[in-house]
Amino acid sequence: MQDYRKDFPIFISTDCVYLDNAATSQRPQSVIDAVSDFYVQSNANPLRGLYDLSMKATERYESARKKAASFIGAGRADEIIFTRNTTESINLAAYSYGDDAVKEGDEIVISIMEHHSNLLPWQRLAKEKKARLVFMEPDESGVIPEKEIEDKICEKTKIVAIAQVSNVMGIRNPVEKIIDRAHRMGAVVLIDGAQSVPHMKVNVTELDADMFAFSSHKMMGPMGIGVLYVKKSIMEKMKPFLMGGEMIEYVTREDATFAELPHKFEAGTVNAADAYGLDAAIDYLNMVGYDYIEKRDTELVNQMMEGMKKMGHITIYGSDDPSKHNGIVTFNVEGVHPHDVSSILNEDGICIRAGHHCAQPLMQFMKVGSTARASAYFYNTKEEIDRFLDCLSRVREVAGYGS
Ligand code: PMP
Repeated sequence: MQDYRKDFPIFISTDCVYLDNAATSQRPQSVIDAVSDFYVQSNANPLRGLYDLSMKATERYESARKKAASFIGAGRADEIIFTRNTTESINLAAYSYGDDAVKEGDEIVISIMEHHSNLLPWQRLAKEKKARLVFMEPDESGVIPEKEIEDKICEKTKIVAIAQVSNVMGIRNPVEKIIDRAHRMGAVVLIDGAQSVPHMKVNVTELDADMFAFSSHKMMGPMGIGVLYVKKSIMEKMKPFLMGGEMIEYVTREDATFAELPHKFEAGTVNAADAYGLDAAIDYLNMVGYDYIEKRDTELVNQMMEGMKKMGHITIYGSDDPSKHNGIVTFNVEGVHPHDVSSILNEDGICIRAGHHCAQPLMQFMKVGSTARASAYFYNTKEEIDRFLDCLSRVREVAGYGS
């Protein structure tokens, strides 16, 4: 195993076992330095000033856009809109594209396993337009079957929005098949890449995705910056999302024309420092490489699953195959509420997530109130997983069930 941990100052300053990487990852020093360096070396309001410092800020912001474009295989930098996060990216898509594209009687197709961020924007749109929100459902192994794709995506479908990787079960959805079906039916597809981009190589051009959303903070970049990729031909038809400074070309008392793409969608002072941090995160992720990340994901999940199976009293959700989990193991301990599981583990400095994971319809579908979720990333160690498993093996005893 490579020693990447030394690059992460948080592992020096704390002794906790961090297994909540699906919620947010940790940041390497190079990312922290990039954000700080932006303010030390180049702080001025970007895109506005005609002086050197502002131009340096602009240069850094725009070079981050180029980096983000090539990172996900987009053909052009102006297909990248910077947002705050995946949630804002999807809301932008639902307003700016969806409001004009969806009419009464149309259908919007998502899946039952979507994060609320990829559900509520479409609920809002469907309600306002009197359109129907249709849910694709997975089989027992967590996979959306081909028949479900064929049945649910039809001539009435105008938009399909689907997570490439589920934040609850870590499963990869068959987005290639979904995109193919949607395009044959004349629908536009948005892929929620919040959980995929940190773990697998994405190429939006090869996928032929129309829109693709992700958050920097889940892939070692700063919080507060996200990306919405939109194919140029689609972006050209979209109305602005937020109104104000920076997104205009010319303004009179009564009217305004808008800035060229993608600035039309980036109203107000932009988050250039964190975009520069995202740029550094992409470099770091590329340096580690997806081959290594995927190998570590499988090793760590395998260790967790094997350990849990030996314990009994534990239900693991999703596939039996550790390589299909993208670092995530969602489980329940018989008789102990997931919140209590998390609190007991916290006593030993182990950080996992418990609750509905912002996916309440999936919990209802799975007929569970909530679950516990341990999510690993390549920098977690075998020793940390041992510590987690050791503590987990004592949870029922601590909760009063005997061992
Ligand atoms: N979609 C998925 C699949 C996610 O896992 C998350 C974050 N948990 C989001 C969307 C929302 O991301 P953010 O909070 O960064 O907007």
